Amino acid sequence: PIQVIRILMDNGVMANINQMVDFDTAAIVASELGFEAKLEVHEVEEEKETGEVPLWRQLIAKEDPRFLQPRPPVVTILGHVDHGKTTLLDAIRHTNVAAGEAGGITQHIGAYQVEHKGRLITFLDTPGHAAFTAMRSRGAQGADIVVLVVAANDGVMPQTREAIAHARAARVPIIVALNKIDRPDANPDFTKRQLAEVGLVPDEWGGNTIVVPVSAKLKQGIEDLLEAILLVSDSLDIKANPNGQVFGTVIEAKIDRARGVVATLLVYNGTLEAGDIVVAGTAYGRIRAMFDFRGRKLRKAGPSTPVQVMGLNEVPDAGELFRVYANEREARQVVEERLLQRQQRRQALPKASLEDLFSKVQAGETQELRLIIKADVQGSLEPIISSLNDLSKESEIRINILHAETGNVSESDVMLASASHAIILGFNVQADHAARRLAESEGVSIRLYDVIYRLTEDIEKALKGMLEPME
Ligand code: GDP
Repeated sequence: PIQVIRILMDNGVMANINQMVDFDTAAIVASELGFEAKLEVHEVEEEKETGEVPLWRQLIAKEDPRFLQPRPPVVTILGHVDHGKTTLLDAIRHTNVAAGEAGGITQHIGAYQVEHKGRLITFLDTPGHAAFTAMRSRGAQGADIVVLVVAANDGVMPQTREAIAHARAARVPIIVALNKIDRPDANPDFTKRQLAEVGLVPDEWGGNTIVVPVSAKLKQGIEDLLEAILLVSDSLDIKANPNGQVFGTVIEAKIDRARGVVATLLVYNGTLEAGDIVVAGTAYGRIRAMFDFRGRKLRKAGPSTPVQVMGLNEVPDAGELFRVYANEREARQVVEERLLQRQQRRQALPKASLEDLFSKVQAGETQELRLIIKADVQGSLEPIISSLNDLSKESEIRINILHAETGNVSESDVMLASASHAIILGFNVQADHAARRLAESEGVSIRLYDVIYRLTEDIEKALKGMLEPME
């Protein structure tokens, strides 16, 4: 290793022993040591999202443009809690079932389609209770268009802004559904001004955001909204190759006692058929049966079609990309390779832990300690935060409290910690079972305390590099 690091340094790369280097760099080192490096290309390697452009879109871009055909737009509805997302999704579902299908469509499989003027629109029906940021961001990542629901009596709220940020990050255009206009306290003009302030200038004011007044409750304005969606679709390049590679996204999945693993898949490209061998993450299997959102048996599903399938061997993660493979052996090989990679990744995971904070600071790898704090009551959060801030002032290492809230350590805390390399501190709280499991697989450290003094003492020691590993 020392020899490798020395050669890297001679070539101007200051690498430590755990660092990844790109292939070209590795090839130079190899040749200086008298070896020839060969690049091994793994399918798994390729399946990484680059930047914010979702993988499925990158994959469609690789299809031969001559074979691309228009496909229905995929729409997701985002907005602040209680602004009417669920009601709007239901209103759309019921007023606009594909011609002559009214009634009898009560299944929730996570996505559905409606017909407007002879054209299909696919709606992602993310659960209304989904408090997870990750889930909302996934919605925007999977869609061609975001419908942002803003209640005209309440205006732009924190989750409205968050939804806008998600849509922008995923580079997905926004249509505003100005909801609850039936309410006597609705103030559309005020809300539009607020929207303009956050960069969504209504088209009637010379901007380029379509704002459609609706009442989800009274089912008013729904046709106008669908019209707007088709209008925006026409200005975008919403295409796929129905005869190309078959891939799409897992919308949701669960275990059904009678039917085994039941997953909703949204096909983005190609045509999925019953009997196909599908791999999603580390789940795989032959599709035994396939149904549309009305619960009707389906043999084939083309681009933008949501389907419920049975036959996978385990529950895949929502948001995971799925692909069709030629045979079961190939599918199993891909899955085995992924399992191996996952295991290796886990072992090599740079866990953010208090114990190694100091050495990381010394190695110049970090300058701050990022924390997420959960406590039983607001009254305990305040003294914890203020003593941590005091410690931060005395130390070279900055303490950055990313998030402080009352309540048990939840899965979304762990997701945040994992994404931001933070440590979770809990005071007089527990970690949910799901949170503990996720923390383990993501390598996130959760430390629980029941005495404030012990908590601050540990942090103080960690800042000085004097913390002994926890038993
Ligand atoms: P979500 O949290 O965004 O999914 O919001 P919901 O769809 O659950 O709606 C929250 C509340 O607002 C419910 O009580 C709905 O009945 C009500 N609501 C939704 N849309 C409208 C509307 O257009 N007008 C009125 N007056 N109430 C609405």
